[in-house]
Amino acid sequence: MSRVYNFSAGPATLPEEVLAQVRDEMMDWQGSGMSVMEMSHRGDAFVSIADAATRDLRELLNVPDDYAVLFLQGGATGQFAGIPLNLCADKAQADYVITGSWGKKAHKEAAKYIKSSVAASTAEQGFQTLPAVADWQLDGDAAYLHYTPNETIEGVEFSDIPDVGDVPLVADMSSNFLSRPVDVSRYGLIYAGAQKNVGPAGVTIVIVRKDLIGNPRADTPMFLDYQQQAEADSMLNTPPCFAWYVAGLTFQWLKRQGGLEGMAEINARKAGKLYDFIDASGFYSNPVEPGCRSRMNVPFLLADDEANKAFLTEAEAAGLTTLKGHRSVGGMRASIYNAMPEAGVDKLIDFMKDFEQRKG
Ligand SMILES: *Cc1c(COP(=O)(O)O)cnc(C)c1O
Repeated sequence: MSRVYNFSAGPATLPEEVLAQVRDEMMDWQGSGMSVMEMSHRGDAFVSIADAATRDLRELLNVPDDYAVLFLQGGATGQFAGIPLNLCADKAQADYVITGSWGKKAHKEAAKYIKSSVAASTAEQGFQTLPAVADWQLDGDAAYLHYTPNETIEGVEFSDIPDVGDVPLVADMSSNFLSRPVDVSRYGLIYAGAQKNVGPAGVTIVIVRKDLIGNPRADTPMFLDYQQQAEADSMLNTPPCFAWYVAGLTFQWLKRQGGLEGMAEINARKAGKLYDFIDASGFYSNPVEPGCRSRMNVPFLLADDEANKAFLTEAEAAGLTTLKGHRSVGGMRASIYNAMPEAGVDKLIDFMKDFEQRKG
């Protein structure tokens, strides 16, 4: 068996310990004589898996009791619609802060259902910086304010939680969920697709303050109705069982890393050394304003754009894969989520040094 260092933005690399456990439990989960994929979601075995995962997630993030934790289908994109449908029965308007491609999509989807205003946008700056909170055009009457703490494609990340007063804050944390401790009580709703930092694609986590749900628009599809899902423990219909199970194993792995505080330290070190190397080099560059850089997704350009192809081919041969930048940004992108070992970042930096010496 040979595993590469996979820098994919998503679906992304998973902890080897988690994969090994999935392998070991594949044919016979803990004496049940079947795999988790084959179990009834109403049976005791799966219910115990689901409960443990939910408990571990609540513990990791310190989720207060007045928040529901849901494991849903439909991806983060499903929630782009689910959020306005659930939160806007009374006020058909919300504010969106757009700091990259995903925020732009969330805003566009919400506009099908409500008046979604742009409170701030860095489109004109090419999404390479973040807008100062003091300049956001907040509508005091908005049902919520939506923002994207980490923009996966452009590689910009908020380091602090913006203070938006009493308007419920809604965050698409798909690409930095569980990468550091977060004060959940500052949010109305947090959501994240699993395939960046949590597990396989197919499960989407929604953490929502209970007083915000239970009054969806009349045309909200049942499976997206957060209140109904909360009452049914996310089993209104068949949940994404296998992905939920693997997410649960990842939560246990995270606890073994020292929880989110431990993980945050490792993540800061990994990102810090990669940015330090890029900044010290005359050959590589990162276009994002230093205070706004993502600890999860690190885009970088080569001084010689012609060398991109050679960089990717040689990196691949060295066991460093999926480093091609998003087509809208170009160049390279290294996604270094929780499960990317520090040794993978070290190996990438060594490769970049060597490539620069030969081509720079
Ligand atoms: C990947 C991603 C999405 C889209 O997730 P899907 O699960 O494919 O719908 C949305 N927002 C952010 C920040 C992402 O990184």
